[in-house]
Amino acid sequence: MTLLIACSVALLTSTRAPAYSVYIAAPRLTFVPSAARLHAICGPTSLACTAIRGTTFHGTCESRDGWHARVDVSFDPYTYLWLGYLLGKDVDVLTHEREHLRDIQTDATEYVRTLSMQTFHSQIDCETAMGQNGVRFEERLRRFAARSQADRQ
Ligand SMILES: [Zn+2]
Repeated sequence: MTLLIACSVALLTSTRAPAYSVYIAAPRLTFVPSAARLHAICGPTSLACTAIRGTTFHGTCESRDGWHARVDVSFDPYTYLWLGYLLGKDVDVLTHEREHLRDIQTDATEYVRTLSMQTFHSQIDCETAMGQNGVRFEERLRRFAARSQADRQ
């Protein structure tokens, strides 16, 4: 009996689960051999940098009280470091890069959550909107990254 109750609770919970997900892979760390090499990759004044690659966007339209989309996005961060800066006393560059990623995660989650809550008149409207959002997703992430950079340097 207990098991039966647990199952129905799980079923109820799953219908209220948010219709979106943001999956960010664990950052892949690359250690470059020199400051010059780091600056060539990241820019002349950088102590480290993180590139976002492998961006995916999936918007699946379904009918429940009007048309809504289940939105799933993902991306892979690649962080570039030089040991000389990593071990420097002044700035914790690894933590700093993680803070940028957290900013981007926050913005991406808010965007995806808002998109998944929109109601569309028809399946075509929904699918058109998902197509447009999918095409622009990488550019949107770049803007989130730029905002984080402006806030934190
Ligand atoms: Zn920074």
